[in-house]
Amino acid sequence: MTIKKQHLIKTSVTLLAGMLLFIIIWAGGYISWKSGIDKLHVNSQQQLDQFASHLDARLARFKFIPQLISKNMILVELLKQPDSNPRRDLVNHFLEDINDIIGASDTYLMNSQGLTLAASNWYKKQTFNNKNFNFRPYFIDAMKGELGRYFALGTTSGKRGYYFAYPIVYAAQNLGVIVVKMDLSNIELNWSNRKNQFIVSDMEGITFITTQPKWLYQSIKPLSVETLQKIHLSQRYDGIDLKNLDIEVLRSISSHSKVIRISDSAERNNNEYYTIQKNMPNAGWDVMILAPLSDLRNNRLITTFVLFLIVISSLLISFLIWQRLKRQHEREHFQLESQKQLEHQVDVRTTDLIHEIDERKQTEKILRETQEELIQTAKLAVLGQMSASISHELNNPLAAIHSYTDNARKFLSMDKFTQVDENLCRILKLTKRMSKISSQLKFFSRKSNQNMEIITIQRVIKSAIDIVSHKYKNSSSVIHIQSHASGLKARADIIQLEQILINLINNAMQAIESQNQGEVIIHIERQNKWALIHVDDNGLGIELEYIEKIFDPFFTTKKSGLGLGLSISARIMDIMNGKLTVCNLPSGGARFTISLLVEE
Ligand code: ADP
Repeated sequence: MTIKKQHLIKTSVTLLAGMLLFIIIWAGGYISWKSGIDKLHVNSQQQLDQFASHLDARLARFKFIPQLISKNMILVELLKQPDSNPRRDLVNHFLEDINDIIGASDTYLMNSQGLTLAASNWYKKQTFNNKNFNFRPYFIDAMKGELGRYFALGTTSGKRGYYFAYPIVYAAQNLGVIVVKMDLSNIELNWSNRKNQFIVSDMEGITFITTQPKWLYQSIKPLSVETLQKIHLSQRYDGIDLKNLDIEVLRSISSHSKVIRISDSAERNNNEYYTIQKNMPNAGWDVMILAPLSDLRNNRLITTFVLFLIVISSLLISFLIWQRLKRQHEREHFQLESQKQLEHQVDVRTTDLIHEIDERKQTEKILRETQEELIQTAKLAVLGQMSASISHELNNPLAAIHSYTDNARKFLSMDKFTQVDENLCRILKLTKRMSKISSQLKFFSRKSNQNMEIITIQRVIKSAIDIVSHKYKNSSSVIHIQSHASGLKARADIIQLEQILINLINNAMQAIESQNQGEVIIHIERQNKWALIHVDDNGLGIELEYIEKIFDPFFTTKKSGLGLGLSISARIMDIMNGKLTVCNLPSGGARFTISLLVEE
């Protein structure tokens, strides 16, 4: 895959993830908003119903009272005789009592022209008496024989009031109208400190009850000139400058519920409301509840933000997990690679080692062969050095054999057989000696099969004793080992060492031949890096004048000795990097010591 393609895939995945993120967050916000609106609707509808019921209940208290009072004959009589002061007083007092009992604002009686003949407030300075209210629609309705009901501001008091008017019928004739006015001043008092606001508007859309005082006496729909004229004539809002409440419908949810904005606040977000409108047909009013949307908006914002946090955290956690897995994978891959590399290195090293071992074996073989050759060469060199002595040793008997042979021939020609035999015996003796010399040389020049190796000294000594002990089985002398270091090891040629030991034991046994209690003791001891083998005897020892010559070839004190054993042994020890030395023991015997380097 090219880098360009990889980049394209990465960008597409990022875009898709971004879109998904946006959709999730948007959907979360929308769901929060939708469920909020639903809850708000149910809640607002309940409150609106309660508020409308409250208004209805307040109005219902006075609805039938005018009708009830209209049946009283004293009212009819006053209407018949309006100039009668006693009748007027009677009705004034009657209406005052009634008004007190029912708790109305004012109760008053109007004649058929709209002139007030008697009123419950007859005693007040601003009494309705003698005032004409024929412009009020409730009067007109009542004069038509219907129950007049009307909202208006009192022209005298300026207070909000609701009027119920009923005709006073006598002999099928409308003589006048009885009116009960109720005070609406504090009707919204208990509802004003809630979150939701309420507006009650009349048929023309003028607000006259509201929990928000600044919205009072404002039109919630555009007012035509005719409507304004009509309102002016009815003096419903006498002296009030009616204004428009600037309501903008943002969304219509149903015919009754809308989302609106009231542009009367500097703060844009706080003036959006969810509204439900309800008609009160009896009163001719519209009641509206306005539930602020600020909480809902905040909830939506919080939900969106929380969702954003959750999604971002999830993404972060996923990213971290992915990173961790990736790192783990990389680590495993690295470990695998390292292991492979190590195995490869081990393989290479093993091959190298095998090669090295082969080379070493080869080198050791060459070394061994070279050493063998060296020893052999050294031996031959020794024999070469000794050849003068040997030829001298052999020439003498040869010369003697020659002269004895001549003599024998001469005696044979003279038939002197006794002398012939004598000479032949001498010749035989001489050839025996020559053969002995030859066998001694052969013994030492024998090529050892073994090479230099690590040996346990005590074992080699035991083996040498085993070889010689057979020869001395009838001897009264004894051979034994006294070891202080039985496990001591050294590097030596086992056969050569054995030969040297045999030679030393033989010499010692010969030295103690004449002793009664002859004894050969072989000690092993360690001195620093040296392993020492002492071959001691309890013979007469070596005379001082001989001690320096003892390792010379053919030095012997014995009648039948050859004098080759010690000289050859000393040279072999040199080749083995060891030493052969001699001394006399304080007790009188001789001590021959073989020194070899210790192998740990
Ligand atoms: P050979 O035994 O044929 O004489 P060696 O070289 O073995 O030849 O010995 C040389 C001489 O050293 C001997 O003749 C002897 O005088 C002396 N010698 C060797 N071993 C002893 C010994 N244990 N005690 C006394 N003298 C010894």
